[in-house]
Amino acid sequence: MIQSVCILGSTGSIGQSTLDVIARNPEKMQVYALSAFSRIKLLAQQAAQSRAKVVVVPDEAALKSFKSAWNSPHPMPEIRLGTEGLKQTAADAAVTTVMAAIVGAACLEPALAAAQAGKRILLANKESLVAAGGLFMQAVRDHGAQLMPIDSEHNAMYQCLPLEAQCSAPTAPYPTIQRLLLTASGGPFRQTDAAALHYVTPAQACNHPNWSMGRKISVDSATMLNKGLEVIEAHWLFAMPAEKIQVVVHPQSIVHSMVEYLDGSILAQLGQPDMRTPIAYGLGYPERIPSGLGLMDLMQLGRLDFSEPDFHRFPCLKLAFDALKSSQAACVALNAANEIAVEYFLNEQIRYTDIAILIAHSIEQVEKNTYDLSHLDAVLDLDEQARQIAKQYANTLRAAH
Ligand code: NDP
Ligand code: MG
Repeated sequence: MIQSVCILGSTGSIGQSTLDVIARNPEKMQVYALSAFSRIKLLAQQAAQSRAKVVVVPDEAALKSFKSAWNSPHPMPEIRLGTEGLKQTAADAAVTTVMAAIVGAACLEPALAAAQAGKRILLANKESLVAAGGLFMQAVRDHGAQLMPIDSEHNAMYQCLPLEAQCSAPTAPYPTIQRLLLTASGGPFRQTDAAALHYVTPAQACNHPNWSMGRKISVDSATMLNKGLEVIEAHWLFAMPAEKIQVVVHPQSIVHSMVEYLDGSILAQLGQPDMRTPIAYGLGYPERIPSGLGLMDLMQLGRLDFSEPDFHRFPCLKLAFDALKSSQAACVALNAANEIAVEYFLNEQIRYTDIAILIAHSIEQVEKNTYDLSHLDAVLDLDEQARQIAKQYANTLRAAH
């Protein structure tokens, strides 16, 4: 059967790489739906080229822009709006496969809708697992959805799992796994003096040494909060306690992660730092399909290095480990406050070093109360509350500078 793919966030870095892989494998898959938030012209080009049947845009103004940008002899796709449109499309009967590649907690509701509709979900977005991993994994189990991690590290671990442990949403760690070894490049500031971090600019933070990514995840990689989010992501995907997830700094980004078994064997997945590999793995599974990458020259690479992360230089990583050990509310606040902090940092309203301060403050405020986060509405409420706390504090920090 030809897969019919819905790409949530098609204009982003992951979205564009997904379109590239689909175009290389037309006999196996086709685009059904695309979505964008601000890059509406690009969406129109993508829809014309891929012959998408449906597009989702945020509001009426974007709908108008889409119509005026449409410049193709082919029929215009159906246009749906907002979160409701995203949810409806992710659950659409005509869709077999959903690539969840919207950035931030905005992906939670549509990804959940895909899970509830029992789709094959290629999950690039990590923020939805951080905010509501329990709910999401339960929905995957309850509705027989097929969940494939696309985040390169988790995709690597998935590839290193025994077959019977794949395509499941486990409630307990696979019994013979001792440890997950989550590799981290260390980002652009791996060796930057801690004092100098105070003055780094958004352009420096977005200049990742190995990966080309969207701006939000690039800043997350620079603070290593990205690795913290990935620890929480691994916890939910593989039902692994925080103590059994070790972050290993590996500056070359060639070993994408490893699984250490009871007998001492460590299985690793290696590859070039290009997201088309995990995307092709997810789209092709259980087969291997072309991704557009050539051969990797190990001889030229010469060496692979591994070292311990520096929690002093990267306090966000520690905050994430602590949040995971502490509570779901802390994880919701960690993610929400980070989204606000990164936005303020990218707009040059707060400093890079304020990001960790803002997250720590928001978690502390949120944790003064207790919450029942077993329903989506409660998670979304707390997410909004944490955003407000973070915004208020960001404005205070801004005024102080
Ligand atoms: P980008 O910023 O490049 O793209 C984000 C996409 O989401 C765009 O299509 C954007 O639309 C859309 N979008 C943004 N805000 C909203 C919103 N509020 N509602 C609906 N759609 C929205 O991000 P990336 O592709 O880099 O990352 C996407 C996700 O994948 C993130 O969760 C990230 O952590 C994860 N990921 C990314 C990797 C990478 O290499 N890039 C690696 C591993 C994980 P528009 O552009 O039109 O505004
Ligand atoms: Mg990653």
